[in-house]
Amino acid sequence: LIVPSWHEFVELIRELYLKCKPISSGNVAEYIPQLARQDPNKWGVSICTVDGQRMSFGDATTPFCFQSVSKAFNYAILASDIGADAVHSFVGQEPSGRLFNEICLDVNNKPHNPMVNSGAIVVSSLLKKDWKMSDRFDYMLEEYKKLAGGEYIGFNNATFLSERDTADRNFALGHFMKECECFPNADQSIRDTLDFYFQLCSLETTCESLAVMAATLANGGVCPLTAEKCLANRPCRDVLSLMYSCGMYDYSGQFAFHVGLPAKSGVSGALIVVIPNLMGICLWSPPLDKMGNSVRGVEFCKKMITKFQFHNYDTL
Ligand code: GLN
Repeated sequence: LIVPSWHEFVELIRELYLKCKPISSGNVAEYIPQLARQDPNKWGVSICTVDGQRMSFGDATTPFCFQSVSKAFNYAILASDIGADAVHSFVGQEPSGRLFNEICLDVNNKPHNPMVNSGAIVVSSLLKKDWKMSDRFDYMLEEYKKLAGGEYIGFNNATFLSERDTADRNFALGHFMKECECFPNADQSIRDTLDFYFQLCSLETTCESLAVMAATLANGGVCPLTAEKCLANRPCRDVLSLMYSCGMYDYSGQFAFHVGLPAKSGVSGALIVVIPNLMGICLWSPPLDKMGNSVRGVEFCKKMITKFQFHNYDTL
């Protein structure tokens, strides 16, 4: 077993979960009603190891939307499909140093990286780009389910409709990128591309399932529950590099410094953390800090690093 003293480990994680429970700072995202209505008291923690040992605390079976956490999986699926070099002829690898939804490109007129909206929208435009919209959606749903070992992946249509209704900035970004020739097909509809991007943000899951998906990343793309190879090796490595440098919005540098693990957060309060060759962690709590990361989620990670030597450079 990869974690031999499992019961001890479970008790230590339970302590961390309980320590973070009373935290009451932060605000739930309010730009769409479906997020504004999320209960700020919800707090779930799930862990899945690369050999399939699992634990969960709190609201681990309550559904929530992936939001920006989808950016990591979309990139890894695309790169497994068409190859990293093809993907990176359209999008860079550099932290943008700007807000996640800012209307800006890098010096080559490409999105800075796949973890900000510009890059994620271009990734969406590339995913099975010549297929019908319905088949593209089904394809991604199936890929997500594979990554989750067949566990719960759903779609929140109300979230999708609200996202599309409040999408002026993303539409502006789409048109700006079209002018800069960022998309693979000049005649591809921006509306379709953005619909697909919002649909992927509106996929929903639970802490339990998302921990399995994170564990698949920790396990080189092989799902620990099914032993199915879901992602190619290089995309798996690459997405972890991008999560390490760009996964936590404008807190990414500080998170890499303090916690030293690849992670990706979303505006729903979801946060995945990957400990390569060991485990995937999903933390979910809707109240966000000023950077847009889950307050309880970030605090849990900081506390975890003081208890366990999980930081990338702890072994030195
Ligand atoms: N769906 C929203 C957007 O694209 C927010 C994504 C996120 O989690 N930051 O603007």
